[in-house]
This record gives sequence, structure tokens and C-alpha cells, in this order.
Amino acid sequence: MSNFEELYREIILDHYRSPRNRGELPSPPALRVEGFNPLCGDEIVAYLQIEDGVLQDIKLTGQGCSISQASSSMMTSAVKGKSLEQVRDAIATFKQLMSVHATTLQANAQPAEADLRTLGELAALQGVVKFPVRIKCATLAWNTLSQGLDEYSAA
Ligand code: ZN
Repeated sequence: MSNFEELYREIILDHYRSPRNRGELPSPPALRVEGFNPLCGDEIVAYLQIEDGVLQDIKLTGQGCSISQASSSMMTSAVKGKSLEQVRDAIATFKQLMSVHATTLQANAQPAEADLRTLGELAALQGVVKFPVRIKCATLAWNTLSQGLDEYSAA
């Protein structure tokens, strides 16, 4: 295992063992949105508190594998307090990381360093998404958040 893989593993385990922003928000006013990954059985319930175009607060409950839970914990840290535009950017960047990784696996290439810097500790997830089925685990929380934003804009 390389030093990077070791570090990534530590970050993921830390989020899995001590998930950030765990819990519920009163709904309403918070928006409640559910996500499910039938391939693995991962479940997520996200509570989004959106005011003045800013994701003021986010809380999550749910259960599932370490990847899904660590990814959702990292996500809350990454998007809490950000403008909806920044949140959408983060979702897009993360999904790109997952798809880039999937396509570069064959070529045995690494994601661009600049991308990893932008993502901070989220980059840890690219190190463990070694099978397509795990990508669903890692992206579940992000898809759920994205769905929540869509419901908010449509309301
Ligand atoms: Zn999973």
C-alpha cells in the first residue's frame, strides 16, 4: 500500500467512525430527501436547510457500507454553509472524479493533481472506488443532495 492509499484509508475510516453532521432537522422548514442504493443496500436521509440561496445546514441519517457513510459524512463537511451554486459545483466535481477514475482505471492513470487539490479530503474516495459497484456507494449521498436541490428549485 502506498502512503497515499494509507492516508486515504485513514480519512475514510475516520469519517466512517465519527460521521459529521449526523442527525435530523425539523422538516419543514428543512427539506427532507431520501436516497437508496439497491446494489449495496445503502440508505441515506438528508435534511437540507436552505435560506437566501445558501445551504445553511445539512444533516444526515442512514446506514450502509463504510464507503457510502464516509462519503456522505465528507459531503456534509464540503457543502455546509456554501451557496447553492458552490454546492452544485462540488457535486459536479465529485461526480467527475468518480467517472474520470472509472475510465482511467483501464489506462492505469491517476486523476489530475489539480482536481485532487480542489477536492481536498474527498480525493480520498478515488483511492477506494476500485469497482463500478462501489461508485454507486460513493455517489449516493451526492445524488441525494442533487435531488434535494432540484426539488427545492422546482418548489
Ligand atoms: Zn455501499
